Amino acid sequence: ADTLSKPHVAFLPSPRNGHITPLFELARRLVTQHNIEVTFFVITTGATGAQNSYFNAFKPHPNLHLHHLPPADMSPFPLLAGMTPLARLSTVVRKSIRPLRSILPAMKNLKAFIVDIFCTDAFDPCKELFIPVYSFFTGPAALMALSLYLPTMDREVEGEFVDLLEPVKVPGCHPIRTKDLLDQIRDRKVDEYKWFLFHVGRLSMAAGVFVNGWDDLEPVTVKAALTKPIEPVLDRRDKEIMAWLDVQPKDSVLFIALGSGGTVTSEQLTELARDLELSQQRFVLVVRKPSDSPHAAFFNAGSDSDDPKTYLPEGLVERTNGVGLTVCSWAPQVAVLNHGSTGAFMSHCGWNSTLESIKHGVPMIGWPMYAEQRMNASMLSDEIGVAVKMGVVGEGGETVVVGRDEIAKVVRNVMEGEEGKKIRKRARELEASGKVALSCGGSSYESLARVIESWKSET
Ligand code: UDP
Repeated sequence: ADTLSKPHVAFLPSPRNGHITPLFELARRLVTQHNIEVTFFVITTGATGAQNSYFNAFKPHPNLHLHHLPPADMSPFPLLAGMTPLARLSTVVRKSIRPLRSILPAMKNLKAFIVDIFCTDAFDPCKELFIPVYSFFTGPAALMALSLYLPTMDREVEGEFVDLLEPVKVPGCHPIRTKDLLDQIRDRKVDEYKWFLFHVGRLSMAAGVFVNGWDDLEPVTVKAALTKPIEPVLDRRDKEIMAWLDVQPKDSVLFIALGSGGTVTSEQLTELARDLELSQQRFVLVVRKPSDSPHAAFFNAGSDSDDPKTYLPEGLVERTNGVGLTVCSWAPQVAVLNHGSTGAFMSHCGWNSTLESIKHGVPMIGWPMYAEQRMNASMLSDEIGVAVKMGVVGEGGETVVVGRDEIAKVVRNVMEGEEGKKIRKRARELEASGKVALSCGGSSYESLARVIESWKSET
């Protein structure tokens, strides 16, 4: 079939690595497995680091078009840097997508526009132009269920959700402890909450919602489409990490990376580093400049270029030479998780990291930091059974510093103890079930195929 008659689908992720990755993977799948033409819109933010080099790493495909939207004029928002993360993200998106109103009508045979959860402003031009719009929910299905329920909670609950005496009961879901509630809904008076409520309140305007997961992982009924992490292109430093992993015993290395934007305080980093040394386990530690804000690197992931030694206890790098590897700011996470020597993953429990870990059968140590990660960590340990939680969440949901003995204990238990065996077994089971879901005839593959069929059959 010629390009003109192919169904055309457009994508719009928010300008965050953790959102671009899963949407881009779905886009590639539509192009390579389902003969769809795709236009992938990119919001230009001026952020450096990982995001900007992201697209260079992929082989071009004649039916996958990248469309960089021009950078929006942010001069009316001089305080952008001081805004909370979601307020800032949403403002950038709102301004950047203005040209869509004139771009979309010119796109031939456009059957669907798949937009990120935080790009719901794009619903308006789509509605005017009668373009079916789908939401891509980059978080877990449990968070989606809570999000769909939030407008009701907002109407019915007085005061703060975190002050409720009982866990939050979303119909059909496991109760959520108030201390695990996501950051965006912990204070209903601030902008962050209002933006979150705005976006999730608009989910019902979508023709459908894509969810990043599969049935066995979260038994919540959804129109599911599992997206697969992308194999990245490795640079020289990355190759050194892989070469080091090559000579380590199977399942012996703990990989520690707190997402694309996570940072810990200087005090916490010192405790963590000392503890790793104490645990005498092999490790790969991604180190970022410490900060008091847990998401200091939110908009410039991978752009630190300082020597990690500056932030670590003196002499640690030398003392752990051969046993541990410290990496500045960014590691090829998917490749590391795919390596046979990697035995566990200490993670902030961002949803992409979680799926990447499970996809490779790697058990986790949950170190939740921001957004919905506390919920994810609890779900992974208490319900799914692939993780052990670090005690970094206080009774009020605040972040607490974990001391040296506790980290070493958990690390040893996961790398060598019974607990580790149990969660590794569970991770391997889920790895297998994810493969089945994604392969032809599997639940994720089939639900995606059904949606695509509906696009193809419309004239
Ligand atoms: N990532 C990476 N190297 C790092 C840190 C993160 O490749 O050192 C990638 C990781 O593989 C994942 C994404 O960045 O795909 C992080 O997404 P996630 O949803 O886990 O967390 P977020 O960064 O959005 O909080």
